[in-house]
Amino acid sequence: MTNLRNLPLLKRVILIAATLSCLCGFSANAENTVLAEIDAKRMSDPSSARASLSEIDMQSLSDEEKLHYRYLESYFFAFSHGIPESLVRFEALIKEAGGSHIEDRLMVTMLSLTAYSGEWAQSFTLAEKLESRLDGMTEQDRMNAILGLISFYQRVDQFDMAMYYISTLLSSDNISESDRCYAVTLKMQIEEEVNDGSLNQPALENAIAVCAAAQHKLFHAINHNTLLRHLVKIEDVYKAKQIARKTGALIEELDLDFTHLKSSFTVGKAQLALLEEDWDNAKALASEALSIDTGGQYESGRIESLEVLIGAEKATGNYEAAVRYLEEKLTLRKEFHSREIAQSLARQEARFKIAEAESAMALLDKENKLAEVREEQLYLALSLVSLLLAGLIFWSYRSRKVQIKLRELARKDSLTGIFNRGYFEERSKRLLSKAQQQNTFVSMTLLDLDHFKQINDTYGHQIGDWVLREVVRALSDTCDVTMTLGRLGGEEFGIVITDCNAERALAVAEACRAAIENISSQPTGHRFTLTASFGVADTSQAGYHFENLSSACDLALYQSKQYGRNRVYEYDSEINPI
Ligand code: GH3
Ligand code: MG
Ligand code: MG
Repeated sequence: MTNLRNLPLLKRVILIAATLSCLCGFSANAENTVLAEIDAKRMSDPSSARASLSEIDMQSLSDEEKLHYRYLESYFFAFSHGIPESLVRFEALIKEAGGSHIEDRLMVTMLSLTAYSGEWAQSFTLAEKLESRLDGMTEQDRMNAILGLISFYQRVDQFDMAMYYISTLLSSDNISESDRCYAVTLKMQIEEEVNDGSLNQPALENAIAVCAAAQHKLFHAINHNTLLRHLVKIEDVYKAKQIARKTGALIEELDLDFTHLKSSFTVGKAQLALLEEDWDNAKALASEALSIDTGGQYESGRIESLEVLIGAEKATGNYEAAVRYLEEKLTLRKEFHSREIAQSLARQEARFKIAEAESAMALLDKENKLAEVREEQLYLALSLVSLLLAGLIFWSYRSRKVQIKLRELARKDSLTGIFNRGYFEERSKRLLSKAQQQNTFVSMTLLDLDHFKQINDTYGHQIGDWVLREVVRALSDTCDVTMTLGRLGGEEFGIVITDCNAERALAVAEACRAAIENISSQPTGHRFTLTASFGVADTSQAGYHFENLSSACDLALYQSKQYGRNRVYEYDSEINPI
């Protein structure tokens, strides 16, 4: 859920605001004028909108108005608690409000939410659907949909598409002041991104003027914060100090618990203090920025804060502290980059999936070219490594065929063709968090072949490889499509099953155990039997954290080994608390 972690803090601030602007649900159909008014100013003047909302007596509202009320409530909740946390609220509301006359608006809302929370396949499909419906929409819905598409395309780094819709919006006769503010702000930000982070100051000043005219308090504050960060970057201390004061006042006036914005602003002030050689203040502000991020979620902001601390500690001769912060920063940066790559691959894949649905040829192609893929794997592996090293993301410019191969390479285990450890874990985490929201069970099974080393030692590595493929074949035959199967390491495998408690998982594990035992070694020309030991646990025993669940399975698996192998054990929290 926290896949926004890998965006620069400043970009994320704007993105959240943009995402929230698109959460416009069913306001257009609101009958209640007070609610409609609140809706209209919820972005531009959030504090007064929120105050008006709190004055409403919910009991006096009709059912439809209640929905609208709760929608606005969730909207403000999203600011303070983050969109992922409020996703459940929105989804429930959208379900209740599902009706044909507001379908387009709901689709925009869903597009924003799914893109924000990294449900790429769903968001790409929604974007396509919305685009195909644009022409038939009412003017207001069309504007609204375009805002959603801009935010979406920016989120997935398809800047040309985002720019296309921004110019559509800007050239429209009916554009509201508030939408114009939104469009020019995003335009300026995208241009900065396309130009490798160099900001066009006149464009930013123009955005400030437009948002001031629109009396859009939120974007006005955000744009000032952007200007502050820019001035600090170009070391214009004098002007930066002025703007910092103004930005502080604007954020104060906003009276909104917008953590990202506050954190970004505090980092900016810390950097400014560093420029002024006000070491104590720099340290205090950087620590404050770190403490705003209580969940430790926003790596980019943390990295910037740590950089300030390193500089200030070094300048005051505290080398030990500086080195400590430096180490922390390096660790964070490493995580940050690998997540960036994983994110980009996931987006690529979603895009690919849609293309795949359009053309069944892709599948045939894949079958026929399998051998070729193998040969090219070395080359691809090399380019993958260099990409990781360079931290560059240029997947989107690669040919589609290479994308297919890259995707496979990134997700699949080359020997057996099933998911590799990394993807198994990623996918399991996603399934677990969904199950947690829906309050359903997930089970996990880990298995490890028994005395596999002996097979390698006695018959050679090639026979060992054959065994691994046969085991996967036996497991795949036993598992159905609702089960996620992965190779976690040498001769260790995992199976995650949704909507399934330990009792049913035990039965599946038992079937897998029998299937492995029944593998015939005849094709190898040798005679040996294969067995494996299993450990099973479910979320009612170990909770929804991937790490806890797999530790529980590990403990059970360990017991299977201990008590004679070739058996299935269920995790018992009383014997082995995790
Ligand atoms: P235990 O029953 O305790 O699990 O014993 P074991 O021999 O299975 O366990 P151990 O972990 O000692 O041995 C695992 C072996 O798996 C060691 C390693 O050489 C082998 N292995 C790991 N990956 C591969 C592979 O891709 N191909 C082949 N052929 N062997 C592999
Ligand atoms: Mg092992
Ligand atoms: Mg083993």
